[in-house]
Amino acid sequence: MFRRILIANRGEIAVRVIRACREMEIETVAVYSSADADALHVQLATRSVCIGPPQAGQSYLNMDAILQVAIATRCDAIHPGYGFLSENDVFSDRCAAEGIKFIGPTGDVIRQMGNKSAARSLMQKSGVPVVPGSDGNVDIETGAVIAAKIGYPVLVKASAGGGGRGMRRVDKPEDFAALFAEAQSETMTNFGDDKMYVEKLIVNPHHIEFQVMADSKGNVVHFGERECSIQRKNQKLMEESPSHLLTPEVRAAMGDAAVTAARAAGYEGAGTIEFVMDDDLHYYFIEMNTRIQVEHPVTEMVCDVDLVREQIRVAAGLTLAYKQADICQRGWAIECRINAEDPMNGFRPSPGKTNFLHFPGGCGIRVESALYVGYNPSPFYDSMVAKVIAHGANRLEAIQRMRRALEEIVIDGYPTTVELCYLILHDPVFVRGNYNTGFLESEMDELMKWNRVGAGLDPIEVNQ
Ligand code: ADP
Ligand code: ADP
Ligand code: MG
Repeated sequence: MFRRILIANRGEIAVRVIRACREMEIETVAVYSSADADALHVQLATRSVCIGPPQAGQSYLNMDAILQVAIATRCDAIHPGYGFLSENDVFSDRCAAEGIKFIGPTGDVIRQMGNKSAARSLMQKSGVPVVPGSDGNVDIETGAVIAAKIGYPVLVKASAGGGGRGMRRVDKPEDFAALFAEAQSETMTNFGDDKMYVEKLIVNPHHIEFQVMADSKGNVVHFGERECSIQRKNQKLMEESPSHLLTPEVRAAMGDAAVTAARAAGYEGAGTIEFVMDDDLHYYFIEMNTRIQVEHPVTEMVCDVDLVREQIRVAAGLTLAYKQADICQRGWAIECRINAEDPMNGFRPSPGKTNFLHFPGGCGIRVESALYVGYNPSPFYDSMVAKVIAHGANRLEAIQRMRRALEEIVIDGYPTTVELCYLILHDPVFVRGNYNTGFLESEMDELMKWNRVGAGLDPIEVNQ
């Protein structure tokens, strides 16, 4: 097993990884930017090293600085968390060249799967259904021809895109060129890459993803699905597991497809196979995330597994501790992302000083956060400040526990998404469980009119 792991990340995921390491008696080295000198991950790690100024490009994305620290502190592995360098093929290669284990797949596998259009092609060859679209990357002219062929509306997507950025919905041919160019320039700014592909837009689909884990010996398992259709601008806000939509047959077929996908990629470590699904339960692969996911805790709660621990174990060359037949989903889990954003003002990031903080606890509630009283979420990074996860014996209990937890939580100092999540937990469409990715946009105005008081619903409506 590793003796010392460097954590190339910040915020709640850095804290999450440090916790797993501590339980495994592995030392941790935190790296941080000058904006994060008082951050929680810096305090919790065995030791911490400042690697640069606040701008991510000069700190959390600075490969030279991070590798230098890893070598100087004799770390035998690097955990990249999510975002930042987690899906960077060059970084994975550079770690390997230094003899430091990158906790994730090799550079080759990231190149194959992190490139969304290359991943599509591989899945198609492996018999995993993909959304109809272009065969690889295209320029504006070819893209327009393909869009006409598959039929509007289409999505133009950046091959290197992520976090909902670099994609545009195009409804008619005359808009194609402008929207394509817009998405392309966005992806150039955000990801330094301008390759684009075209996909049929599945109207208001469900986003269903499968958690997979593979060891270095060829064993691959999946830990069931997550329903992530509560999204704003293609970014997830709430997730749950299992999905209310899937039948046991479809679940088994999608699980098999996810395992097939991971095998086809020669995958190692934790990964997520994302699908969109229409109302008739036809599902299509959209992308693989070659890293631990923000919403991994809902899977941990229903499958009773520590995914980060397992990720570290397989990276260290150990055999997966789970066989597919041993994995079962127990009860129901929901996650709410608490972002320092103002839903009343177009979700504008709203960093500020945390004057007072109270996190909920009690039966079935888990909070993942790096926040504490006096800590100021930084405007330089992601606005997510906490994740609240509720687990119950069934969907109703999970919803009730989450409502209770959000009634209890206090984050005083800036607007957050707590209220919005609370209102969603009372929305009849959400409560019935048959929502899709169009939910938030269509319900948003109505939700914002609601008042917390008297938003109660007949619990019999809840699907279990
Ligand atoms: P998840 O399904 O885990 O939420 P996201 O695609 O939303 O996946 O990304 C997780 C986090 O990583 C988000 O904070 C997002 O802003 C960030 N992120 C995603 N892709 C990249 C990338 N290529 N570079 C930097 N940050 C990214
Ligand atoms: P990212 O890398 O930004 O996460 P994805 O390809 O996973 O990009 O897409 C993000 C979201 O956009 C999905 O969760 C889904 O809501 C929506 N989406 C993606 N592809 C399609 C599609 N072909 N049809 C309809 N919606 C889609
Ligand atoms: Mg995605």
